[in-house]
Amino acid sequence: MDIGFTRNKSFEEPQHLKEYLSTFPVLNAYIGSVYKDRLLPKDRYYDAITIHNTDWVGRDLIFDLDLDEYDPVRTCDCTGREVCEICWAFMQDAANIMDETFAVDFGFKKRVWVYTGGRGYHCWILDEDTFDLDQNQRTAIVEYMQLIHDPKGVQKIDDPGDFANLLVKRIYRKIGRKYIMETPIKRLEEEAGFTKNSIEKARSRLKNSELVADIVDSIPRGKENQFLKTVILNHYPRIDHKVTIDIRRLIRMPGSIHAGTGNISEYVNPISFNPAFDAKNIYDVIGE
Ligand SMILES: [Zn+2]
Repeated sequence: MDIGFTRNKSFEEPQHLKEYLSTFPVLNAYIGSVYKDRLLPKDRYYDAITIHNTDWVGRDLIFDLDLDEYDPVRTCDCTGREVCEICWAFMQDAANIMDETFAVDFGFKKRVWVYTGGRGYHCWILDEDTFDLDQNQRTAIVEYMQLIHDPKGVQKIDDPGDFANLLVKRIYRKIGRKYIMETPIKRLEEEAGFTKNSIEKARSRLKNSELVADIVDSIPRGKENQFLKTVILNHYPRIDHKVTIDIRRLIRMPGSIHAGTGNISEYVNPISFNPAFDAKNIYDVIGE
């Protein structure tokens, strides 16, 4: 079997891509942007047409989440490419926050979440008016949401602003409450300045409330900032901004196989999906 990359293939119609892939099955399939001209190899009379010398027309707006970005805060034994049902909760929480931010703060309507077959999700925004956003516009969108920088190194956290901020309210609702309810008591004391007493009171109050005001009131006085930063550090989305910004970058094709795991990359509900139970493996599907 030949193992290698075939690059610079272009197709005018989705049907042509489908026919190509049925004729030449591949281990991994990546797709990129729409360009003005079909790409062509160099021949005797013409220079090659590549993605670097034809006009860029557009690309879906795409966001990338990978679990290896969470290595500093994962509490299971996974590192790098490994995933398990426990650490996948980071992906679910991240998608939960991002999807609402896309819908409410940006008004994006067609949002498709894709399990990559490996260690994360891609979110594709398919609204027509986002298709030709340039790199600067894509950078502005991802920077609005990105609060953790250099996640594998210094883990600097941006000041997310005050309680009036949409994003901050969302952090309290989507991950702040969960952090208070589910984090082991010892960690709550060490990381966020809680006492045993304040944890008990907070948990009984928040059992029946998801109000931001109640969540904020449950935090020990003067520890609000420490709390917010701890929640962000431990549970806020860690977006790989390069994937969103680089408009010439290739992205794994939804529906294709992730050759590393054999799992099928597929459309999912990112909040309920967990690959530990739900991933479909190609070898199970076709029978080895
Ligand atoms: Zn894990």
